Amino acid sequence: MNQEQVMLIVLIFILATLSIWIILESILFAYIKKNSSAISKLIDLNKNKEQSFHKINTTYTYIKRNKSKKAFDKTDFYKVLKEYYLGNESFFIDIINKLEHNLVEATLYDQNCDMIFASRITDWYRGINFEKREKFWFNRFKLKPIKDISIIIKSTYTSPKGKNSYLAKREYHFSDIKNISNEIKQQNEFQKSKQYQRLIMTDQLRYTVLKRDNFRCCLCGVSAQDGATLHVDHIFPISKGGKTELSNLRTLCDQCNLGKGAKYDDTGLN
Ligand SMILES: [Zn+2]
Repeated sequence: MNQEQVMLIVLIFILATLSIWIILESILFAYIKKNSSAISKLIDLNKNKEQSFHKINTTYTYIKRNKSKKAFDKTDFYKVLKEYYLGNESFFIDIINKLEHNLVEATLYDQNCDMIFASRITDWYRGINFEKREKFWFNRFKLKPIKDISIIIKSTYTSPKGKNSYLAKREYHFSDIKNISNEIKQQNEFQKSKQYQRLIMTDQLRYTVLKRDNFRCCLCGVSAQDGATLHVDHIFPISKGGKTELSNLRTLCDQCNLGKGAKYDDTGLN
């Protein structure tokens, strides 16, 4: 026999072994599927559960086209991701809700699956590998709900005549989108609290402060009788998180208030 013939025989042998193995495994699979209470219970569970998992795309791509090489080099990918999020906020909120729903449902589903497998009947096992095979096929039958997404942020720059083009990318996930959504929620709440602090600055409160300060400017001491216009001022500005409460309010005259703006130092005086 020459070398080629030997190779051929070896190849035929390998293919024959493989075929026999596949046939045997299929027979075993049919036997296991017929006898496994766990797998049939799982199939029933799947019928009910299939509808409760949201199906969404798992990959999203956003391309930032830069106007200069310098801008390309300075790409802040997280900032671009935020830009993408803000441009499609309701779309991403929908995705977040669906993924959170899937995560909760998946936990319940996994618990159900564990329970089904733990309470399986094993008296039909013939040999030591049946448990291993049943477990393998049981896991193959389990539903695989979508629990994460991949967001690819691409940054590109092409030189004016198209001579050079550059591409950089970074991948983000559900947790990143979730962080951005929380950051924006906090910003909105801060905005709302600023509006609220302005709203509770009533005439009555204003009068209380003026009276407490003897109707005089807390910095230079002028009064309305001296011809000054008096204001009630936030020592620590609302824009910086200051509150509308007596300890943060003081009387200032026009002149003193004018130079102040939203500046603030530790003493509250400027
Ligand atoms: Zn003053």
